[in-house]
Amino acid sequence: MRRKLIAGNWKMNGSLAANAALLSEIKGAAGQPACDVAVCVPAPYLSQCQSLLEGSAIRWGGQDASLHESGAYTGEVSCSMLADFACGYVIVGHSERRTYHGETDELVAGKAVRALKSGIAPIVCVGESLEQREAGKTDEVVGAQIDAVLAVLSAEEIAGIVVAYEPVWAIGTGRTATPQMAQDVHAMLRAKLRAKNPAAADAVKILYGGSMKPDNAADLLAMADIDGGLIGGASLKAADFLAIIRAA
Ligand code: 13P
Repeated sequence: MRRKLIAGNWKMNGSLAANAALLSEIKGAAGQPACDVAVCVPAPYLSQCQSLLEGSAIRWGGQDASLHESGAYTGEVSCSMLADFACGYVIVGHSERRTYHGETDELVAGKAVRALKSGIAPIVCVGESLEQREAGKTDEVVGAQIDAVLAVLSAEEIAGIVVAYEPVWAIGTGRTATPQMAQDVHAMLRAKLRAKNPAAADAVKILYGGSMKPDNAADLLAMADIDGGLIGGASLKAADFLAIIRAA
């Protein structure tokens, strides 16, 4: 049985004061949760997360990392820097990175490899646009996105990743995939994993992301291949994030 993971993606939100209030409320109320819990925060706040969350059941991570290990890449943050702050996770290939920063499937795959080499679990995001879904291309697009990552990982490395299915049309829109729509894509993703490493396919967590809220989380999380959530807006409100954690 896969243990579920509820991960918050704060995106470009937060301040030292707001984070301290949010994290202390989550940490205090979550106690020993029945699922894994993490927050993926802007890089400047990793040190704050480390000092506030170390020793608790809540892990922390980055929202992106460089393809490169070090060097003349102004503005970039490397996976080894994230490891210095004891990050458990790093999101790679979020649709906002793909859309606003032109990240390709190959670049995302390279970032996943780099994270694994630093001992950090990459949360590999995949998902189709509304136009692609309406054209009946969901499996083709999402399949190609995951294939690019699986192509560069060894069977052993595949066991170290987390996958997040985030339909672009559901992100920040209040419009959620139905549990069955999400389940269908998750099952396709798991079949892809199984073809590369049957044992890992049963262990790798496949999260759903896109307007997951307290009122729809339980139905989504009840599906056989939905192993948790990648939560945007609702991860910024302690009561909502805690309610989703309790639903998992
Ligand atoms: P929302 O939960 O705000 O729709 O964002 C989802 C997301 O993009 C998480 O990575």
